[in-house]
Amino acid sequence: MPAKGQHRRSKTQRIARAAAVVSAGGAALALPLMGATGAHAATGDAAAKPTTYTVKAGDTLVKIAEAQDVDGGWQKLYETNKKVVGSDAGLIKPGQKLTLEGAAPAAAPATTTDSTAATGSATSATGYVKPVDGSIGTAYHASGSSWSSGYHTGTDFVVSTGTAVKAVGPGTVVSAGWDGSYGNEVVIKHADGDYSQYAHLSSLGVSAGQTVTAGQQIGLSGATGNVTGPHLHFEIRTTPDYGSDIDPVTYLRDHGVSI
Ligand SMILES: [Zn+2]
Repeated sequence: MPAKGQHRRSKTQRIARAAAVVSAGGAALALPLMGATGAHAATGDAAAKPTTYTVKAGDTLVKIAEAQDVDGGWQKLYETNKKVVGSDAGLIKPGQKLTLEGAAPAAAPATTTDSTAATGSATSATGYVKPVDGSIGTAYHASGSSWSSGYHTGTDFVVSTGTAVKAVGPGTVVSAGWDGSYGNEVVIKHADGDYSQYAHLSSLGVSAGQTVTAGQQIGLSGATGNVTGPHLHFEIRTTPDYGSDIDPVTYLRDHGVSI
């Protein structure tokens, strides 16, 4: 089944997403002029304006910190993105998404903001991301004879061969290798017990047993296996077994991903 390429983000879904952001960020976000307490207003502001930067080939934290004028320099940038970058500040990979923080950090140490700050950072602490920068092609549960179950068990992202494919969340690589119609495929088990799968890859960047962070590049998209063209087939399963799939887009949204 060729990807139809249509965008399935309906108005209702966008509204639902907006509502989720407001409730997650607290009332201060929705009502910035209504006299919220200083602590909450400060936290709300910080959470409302995160900008991200996608690492390109040849980048270093020093370079990015300078180019993006990050307060606190590369050390602050590393501190903020430790979950994505990992233990080696000198090793960043193209495709990794870094959070850029502006002048807000100065307000952070106040003890009264601690609980709010902890709640606010819960989403970014898990740090879930989209598996690739691309739009949705064939949706989850689309019906068709090309799938052995009779329906599409994942969501396809429209990307050309060679696009960075990223672990959507932290986890452990269960397998990385050839899997028949899925072609080159990576399977990651996450802390919540669910599995994410990335299929049709042109190259694999990880191996079984390896621990990965959210946003870490695990391979490059491609057109291996049973495909009519390059794309990323992305699945979420609740067990390692075929047929235990759930809606990947819902899963990502539940983990705070804007999609
Ligand atoms: Zn697919």
